[in-house]
Amino acid sequence: AGGSTRPFRVVLLGARGIGKTAIASIFAGAADSMDSDECELYGDEVCERTITVDGEKATVTLVDNWDSEDEGGSSQDQCIQTGDAYLLVYSITDRSSFLQASELRISLRQHRPAHHTPIILVGNKCDLVRRREVSVNEGRACAAVFDCKFIETSAAMQHNVWPAFHGIVQQLRLRRDTK
Ligand code: GDP
Repeated sequence: AGGSTRPFRVVLLGARGIGKTAIASIFAGAADSMDSDECELYGDEVCERTITVDGEKATVTLVDNWDSEDEGGSSQDQCIQTGDAYLLVYSITDRSSFLQASELRISLRQHRPAHHTPIILVGNKCDLVRRREVSVNEGRACAAVFDCKFIETSAAMQHNVWPAFHGIVQQLRLRRDTK
């Protein structure tokens, strides 16, 4: 496997203001040292770059054009239908974004019933400890119900964001290898 395979399309989903853009800009911004590839931008909401995960290169197209206000709109449909994998993001400081993540998990299941689509539930803004509204245990329990992985991140502190991207690539490879 390698350069000849199609890029993995990873879609960021979640409520407004929870840090999707901040997460995407970490992905777009920091060139990893082994890799001279700059991120290629296709419009400002889609970014493609090659990263090294477990010693193997993977090309990831990250999509950040989810509009949570565009209920049932075509851009929402496109996001839900075209991803190979999803980062389902909420803010640990915003319970309504956590509830929205649950709803999104349900719509993913409805739209892609036959697919074992890799999903990671991402609790962002974990640096804001005093404003926490969703506990780590709640996040973990929710991920168990959703049958997906769970991670807490802080885009502001650049904490755990790369592990989330690496985790999604690892899951995509597992799925590819068992097909
Ligand atoms: P989006 O609407 O989901 O794309 O959210 P943005 O990425 O635009 O972030 C919304 C606001 O939250 C901005 O002011 C960010 O600076 C801030 N933000 C994003 N991630 C974090 C984080 O991990 N910690 C803190 N403290 N603020 C964050």
